Amino acid sequence: MYRIGVDIGGTKINIGLFKDDDRKLIAHKKVYVTDISDLSNDIKAGVGELCTANGIKYGDIVSCGVGIPGTVSADGKEIIKVPNIGILAKDTAIKLEKTLKVPVKLVQDSRAAAWGEYLCGGATGTNTSVCVTLGTGIGTGIVMNGEIYNGALGCAGELGHLVAVENGRECGCGKKGCLEKYCAGGGLDITAKELLGAGKTASDLFSESKKGNEKAQEVINNAVKMLGRGLIAIVNLMSPDCILFSGGLSDQEELYLNPLIDYIKEHCYSAGELPVIKKAELGEFSPLYGAAFVPNKEIIELD
Ligand SMILES: [Zn+2]
Repeated sequence: MYRIGVDIGGTKINIGLFKDDDRKLIAHKKVYVTDISDLSNDIKAGVGELCTANGIKYGDIVSCGVGIPGTVSADGKEIIKVPNIGILAKDTAIKLEKTLKVPVKLVQDSRAAAWGEYLCGGATGTNTSVCVTLGTGIGTGIVMNGEIYNGALGCAGELGHLVAVENGRECGCGKKGCLEKYCAGGGLDITAKELLGAGKTASDLFSESKKGNEKAQEVINNAVKMLGRGLIAIVNLMSPDCILFSGGLSDQEELYLNPLIDYIKEHCYSAGELPVIKKAELGEFSPLYGAAFVPNKEIIELD
């Protein structure tokens, strides 16, 4: 028995083929998006190639889970809101089910990442884990008591859209001044342009900071503290035992991740014990793991 986990990006789709019994990632493949309004053919082609290359019969695949960079319906069948990439069809799951001929369930990608880390990565054995993906934006997934926490209205974990600056930078969510427009990769790109000039990006900001540019160091420190305060709110509200960071920005350990972890530990409320705060363990694959193994009642019905 095998499962497919899919992670949808703006230009590429990452597809993972997993063995069901030991949750092992057998192989993965990135395919380019040819039609954002209907991803089913791109995904099917990728799945077919993965099966052929690994000598697996297509009929042995029992399910497909798809990580979506936005909000999906509670049953995992409909896309509700995707703030940052092109228009994904609302009925992506239905189209994909027809094409792949296996049950398909959608899950918000940040929740998929948190679930993947809980099942197979850095959050195994924890009670309440928060997995923060620091990419272009900020994605936050929460796993509590062995279940993905969605919230009653389905929007739990939208830390990236916390209003950090009154009337600030415009955000893809339709609001202004959101945390991710300052503290994630996309936000730091804007800061880099403001400070260093047109064409500059977050990575220039970090290299300038390493060279001793005090202004670059200051804006990075400000972003660290701004994000840190957002995370302290989560720690104080939820008292998690584990916080994990993934995404490109988490690789900036010396200038970003480590100061962020120190800031949270220094300022969060504590009754003695602090949460474990560290880098996620599955890297770019955590959403694939989580999507592939997202609880899906339809699979049980198939058995
Ligand atoms: Zn926003």
